[in-house]
Amino acid sequence: MSIQFDILTLFPGIFSGFLGESLLKDALDAYKIGIRLHNMRDWADDKHNTMDDRPFGGGPGMLLKVDRVVPCVEDVQRLEPEAGRLIMLSPQGKRFDQRTAEGLAKEKRIVIICGRYEGFDERIADILQPEEISVGDYVLNGGEVAAMVIIEAVMRLIPGVLGAEESNRYDSFSTGSRLLDCAQYTRPREYRGINVPDVLVSGNHQDIADWRTENSLQRTREKRPDLLQKNNTEKDNTEKIIPE
Ligand code: SAM
Repeated sequence: MSIQFDILTLFPGIFSGFLGESLLKDALDAYKIGIRLHNMRDWADDKHNTMDDRPFGGGPGMLLKVDRVVPCVEDVQRLEPEAGRLIMLSPQGKRFDQRTAEGLAKEKRIVIICGRYEGFDERIADILQPEEISVGDYVLNGGEVAAMVIIEAVMRLIPGVLGAEESNRYDSFSTGSRLLDCAQYTRPREYRGINVPDVLVSGNHQDIADWRTENSLQRTREKRPDLLQKNNTEKDNTEKIIPE
């Protein structure tokens, strides 16, 4: 299984370090994921490569032009037989979360439009009817970092991308487990007087599972009690922790 991402951006260079490191590089090398960057400026047809213009009615900043962005998106969609899921990044969009990532991980192709400046001419969304997605209630300079957030969250869910040890099944927010992940420790067993809980080195799998379940519940109650309130029963969540 693999997912093809097509990213439309005015600043493809922002992605260069991101694509060349760590798990994402491995996933690209193993063809578990494909990422094509498209410089939207290639669709500008004047000598200044103009992609933006002043808003009608005045106001600060510049907007991405409808007559540049729409042909760009349509051309990119036509690169494959399947147009794919079309996402426009916007602070006004639906808030991105683990559930959205799980849905996107089932797709074959995802096309993401990164905005810049003051955003998009409204007619771009009218014509293309994209899903608008926000990565949070704050405003970034552009959609590139938001696109990286989505790529990272989705790629973790593609089978084979993470090693068995790094299984995402126990991650916080995963489906079937609305609890936060439990506390984890590695060597040394003691550091500055703080010891790893004895149960984790006891070798008793049932005791370890019980401790992890309780620890997850306790952390969720302390840090994110809202997760336990949304039609959640704590019982639903206890299946999450299994011994190694
Ligand atoms: N004027 C716009 C507004 O207030 O809704 C904000 C424009 S922002 C400076 C420029 C671009 O960055 C947006 O078009 C979008 O693509 C991206 N962006 C900024 N914040 C974002 C967020 N929280 N989630 C997703 N994309 C974001």
